[in-house]
Amino acid sequence: MQEKPIVLIVDDEPVNIQVLAACLKDTYQIKVSTSGKQCLELAQHSSAPDLILLDIDMPEMSGYEVCTILKSNSATKSIPVIFVTAKNEIHEEEKGLEMGAVDYITKPISPAIVAARVKTHITLKLQHDKLQNMAMHDQLTGLYNRYFLLEDASNKVSKSKRHNYALSVLMMDIDHFKTINDKHGHATGDDVLKAVAVCISKEKRKEDVLARFGGEEFVLLLDHCNITEAQVKAEKLRKAIEELQPSDLSITVSIGVAQLSSSENSFAEPLKRADDALYKAKEGGRNRVVCHEHLSLES
Ligand code: GH3
Ligand code: MG
Ligand code: MG
Repeated sequence: MQEKPIVLIVDDEPVNIQVLAACLKDTYQIKVSTSGKQCLELAQHSSAPDLILLDIDMPEMSGYEVCTILKSNSATKSIPVIFVTAKNEIHEEEKGLEMGAVDYITKPISPAIVAARVKTHITLKLQHDKLQNMAMHDQLTGLYNRYFLLEDASNKVSKSKRHNYALSVLMMDIDHFKTINDKHGHATGDDVLKAVAVCISKEKRKEDVLARFGGEEFVLLLDHCNITEAQVKAEKLRKAIEELQPSDLSITVSIGVAQLSSSENSFAEPLKRADDALYKAKEGGRNRVVCHEHLSLES
């Protein structure tokens, strides 16, 4: 069963929280907070709310301040905020909406109106989340897609340069994959892709970002990992896939490895070198790992 969406109710008066919770508790999972500070903490939590009902008049931090902070933080800015307040002057409502709130409800509340407005904005929020998720992921394997990887890699390149740590990239391509489709059909080809995706996901560290980069091509971004460590990782992956036998088929991968060098400022450069190394691995007979850095030393 799908979990109920989470509504966070923020009000310094517990009795107001009770009234709002009574309208919503059958449909939503309710979280409560009696201060702006606590609201900000809960909004950052791993099980963040899908919508916040926010009182304006609160001691220490007003609802306006809380809303401004929520909207300026990339982790919380997509959570819809509805102000619930005794202020019913038009300029107050305008101010709330200008701060990024999606709606404004005045006290005393009507339970039916609260329920209807919350429902509308939760529906929009869940649709937004779904679209965002689809835009970042590959549908077949559930891995990140090329678009997400390139965005994430660009951020990681900046971080690794700022904090001076190693960043490596693995480009993996299934060998003779076309033959699998030709001999066993496209559906079996799809199953093989899914099995390879699961295998690499199991082998990688949680913080490493794995994406399906193209048809039968996967890219793994390794944070805090130099070329030597990346090569060991690549060899481990190559072996795991060789032993995988998805759909009772023997498959192998070729892997190109490269590390971001100190003179490089964009991900395109190490990615291109990993791709060149992958090409060499294919040329050298497939089912092997080639490091671009070691290639240059040899030639
Ligand atoms: P190489 O060892 O040189 O990499 O040979 P290859 O056959 O793996 O490479 P090639 O680029 O010639 O063929 C890749 C094949 O992957 C062709 C394409 O039909 C198939 N492919 C791409 N995307 C999918 C997919 O989503 N599902 C299936 N089943 N096949 C796909
Ligand atoms: Mg291939
Ligand atoms: Mg290919």
